[in-house]
Amino acid sequence: MNAPALEEQPAASTAPAADKAALGHTRAFTSLAPGYWPEVPPEQWNDWKWQLKNRVTSLAQLEQHLVLTPNERAGVLVAGSKLSLAVTPHFFNLIERDNPDCPIRRQVVPRFEESLTTPFEMADPCGEDSHMPVPGLVHRYPDRVLFLVTDRCASYCRYCTRSRVVSGAGEQELHTNFEEALHYIETHPEVRDVLLSGGDPLLFSDDKLEGLLSRLRAIEHVEFIRIGSRVPIFLPQRITPALCAMLQKYHPLWMSVHVNHPRELTLEVKAALERLANSGVPLGNQSVLLRGVNDNAETMRALIHKLLRCRVRPYYLYQLDLIKGSSHLQVPVSKGIEIIEGLRGHTTGYAIPQYVIDAPGGGGKVPVNPNYLIYHDQEKVVIRNYEGRVFEYPEPAVSAP
Ligand SMILES: *Cc1c(COP(=O)(O)O)cnc(C)c1O
Ligand code: SF4
Repeated sequence: MNAPALEEQPAASTAPAADKAALGHTRAFTSLAPGYWPEVPPEQWNDWKWQLKNRVTSLAQLEQHLVLTPNERAGVLVAGSKLSLAVTPHFFNLIERDNPDCPIRRQVVPRFEESLTTPFEMADPCGEDSHMPVPGLVHRYPDRVLFLVTDRCASYCRYCTRSRVVSGAGEQELHTNFEEALHYIETHPEVRDVLLSGGDPLLFSDDKLEGLLSRLRAIEHVEFIRIGSRVPIFLPQRITPALCAMLQKYHPLWMSVHVNHPRELTLEVKAALERLANSGVPLGNQSVLLRGVNDNAETMRALIHKLLRCRVRPYYLYQLDLIKGSSHLQVPVSKGIEIIEGLRGHTTGYAIPQYVIDAPGGGGKVPVNPNYLIYHDQEKVVIRNYEGRVFEYPEPAVSAP
């Protein structure tokens, strides 16, 4: 590991995980290991296969470490038939023992509300299934495809847009046909951008992932490859030097990670992101706006500033899709707009994600912004700035030839 431990605030390694987690970690990069696993030696802890094998997946394991509420206990009992419970020890250490409102806990510990469905909620809110020319390949936009290469993740996000297929417990199964999908890309020269997602592609072995990347790179019209992954956050140990050396052979290769709260950016995660960045992989972040997790300007500002320090450019802030059982995590769009309004002009432009709603039923991502354009006609535009000051800009005359 090339963690720059010395420049960062060191972890107070004797305090219990819950106390340290309660500090919030809005600015400092700290390590919470070994936290709830004091008996595990570092060689094991740092082995990503150990992390996967020792995930928290049952009610008994949860209760061994956390004080659950009746609501959470009921949530775990219904989770098995919807989206599996699984949390890597690394990520589990970020959860506060006694606080059911812990922003990390809300993302990965099931709640009873997951079994409630409101009238607008759907199993496939983005209409992906109806845009699959071959199983596992979503072709919604003209020049790019979303390739769902696996249904497994290192940990499961309770609000996952693809919970209908992800983890294998839900109502559908993912039957990706790799040969058919590759053939489709090969025979569609308009596809210049392939996004590998799932599930999480970084759970593949280096060899399996390389097999896929090399097949894609052999297609001349595929200019751009990107991987969507939460592994650097859930399982930073997976970002090994060997993986980075392999990825580096397939440039231009970009990666979108998924961080929702500043506490997720631990010392280990920062080091993993730096290894990727040092391998020339440009990094973006996709956050989901979640009630009780990141639905206020202070948390969002802390998150995006920390991301920049990890060399990650905030890319999208998603309005939560209308996934079944997500009502307890929904945030009003007006709140999302207010958060963006509180960022634009007030902080580094690079730090500001584009807020989007993935239009229900398959309309794709639609940008949603505060309104800075007050008036517009053929002669002028009237705009306001981040401080509310109003300006007029004359429309350049478009003279006839
Ligand atoms: C999000 C998404 C993409 C990628 O969109 P970008 O705006 O280019 O990041 C591609 N296909 C599908 C189906 C998507 O949902
Ligand atoms: S990592 Fe992504 S695909 Fe996996 S459960 Fe979370 S949101 Fe869903």
